[in-house]
Amino acid sequence: MKAAAFSYARATSVVNALELLAARGDDAKVLSGGQSLMPAMNLRLISPELIVDIGGIAELKGIAVRGDVLAIGALTRHVDLQRSPEIAAHAPLLTEAIAHVAHPAIRNKGTIGGSLAHADPASELPACMVALDATIVIGGQTGERRVAARDFFTGIYETALSADELLTAVELPVARKNSAHFFCEFARRHGDYAIVGVAAQAILEGDMFADLRLVFFAVGDRPALCSGVSKLINVAITPEILLNASTTLEAELDPPEDQQATASMRRHLARVLLTRCVSALLGRPVLAAGACA
Ligand SMILES: Cc1cc2nc3c(=O)[nH]c(=O)nc-3n(C[C@H](O)[C@H](O)[C@H](O)COP(=O)(O)OP(=O)(O)OC[C@H]3O[C@@H](n4cnc5c(N)ncnc54)[C@H](O)[C@@H]3O)c2cc1C
Repeated sequence: MKAAAFSYARATSVVNALELLAARGDDAKVLSGGQSLMPAMNLRLISPELIVDIGGIAELKGIAVRGDVLAIGALTRHVDLQRSPEIAAHAPLLTEAIAHVAHPAIRNKGTIGGSLAHADPASELPACMVALDATIVIGGQTGERRVAARDFFTGIYETALSADELLTAVELPVARKNSAHFFCEFARRHGDYAIVGVAAQAILEGDMFADLRLVFFAVGDRPALCSGVSKLINVAITPEILLNASTTLEAELDPPEDQQATASMRRHLARVLLTRCVSALLGRPVLAAGACA
């Protein structure tokens, strides 16, 4: 199938893109890397009248460290994240996670802004943003606003963005002392969307967690920040405490059932991932049997 006929405008700046979007409202769609938008248009799941191509806007590209903030422009491609020394030094969770996003051909075109605006609940990057406590920077006709990543994702393919706004950047706190991270997903094949996955960012104090943000994906309509992990903070982790946290997790999640997995299988996999995650972060393989593939 081919996309329905549409008009095309190549935006020259953020201001110009916002003007084009404001003029057409819901009838316009932003084009970044096109790796999700074009398939959806070709399948006629969506048929926008106007495509606003932001791909040439230089101010939306790049990665920079400003004080204790790591700023990533919306047009930064997956491959740029994967190869960036700044990301590897200050947000290594992202470096690890990005290798699981699709395949090289898609990573060469897809962008962080497109992935977050698309908000697929099985996507890796939205979960990483919540785990890293990122701030999403949004441009609009009346100026800029900032939304915490945990509030940005509002449902399946739904976000806090309105039709006339542009995701312009992401801001991450640079990794603090004693930071540790963990990423793992179960997928049918490497590069497929996850059946269940987890992204975690922790601060360790000796053999305890001073902080732990653990976010599951593909288990609901948006990234799920696990609140049951509060049971794991500032305590010596025993198998009993871990079991207790994983029972709480199971009650917290309301996973979907689809061709890939039943809800109970997803719950089971989430519990397995929790145990592996905690064991790996604490360097205590005895807490978990089996490694993450
Ligand atoms: C075969 C295949 C496998 C894939 N596997 C995975 C996977 O395993 N994990 C994964 O996470 N993704 C996967 N993807 C999706 C891929 O990562 C996309 O690159 C990404 O989801 C969208 O990025 P994009 O830059 O291509 O966005 P586009 O396709 O250009 O846009 C996506 C959506 O976001 C909107 N948008 C884009 N940029 C902005 C912006 N700056 N402001 C506001 N709205 C914006 C668009 O209007 C559109 O609605 C896969 C894609 C394909 C085709």
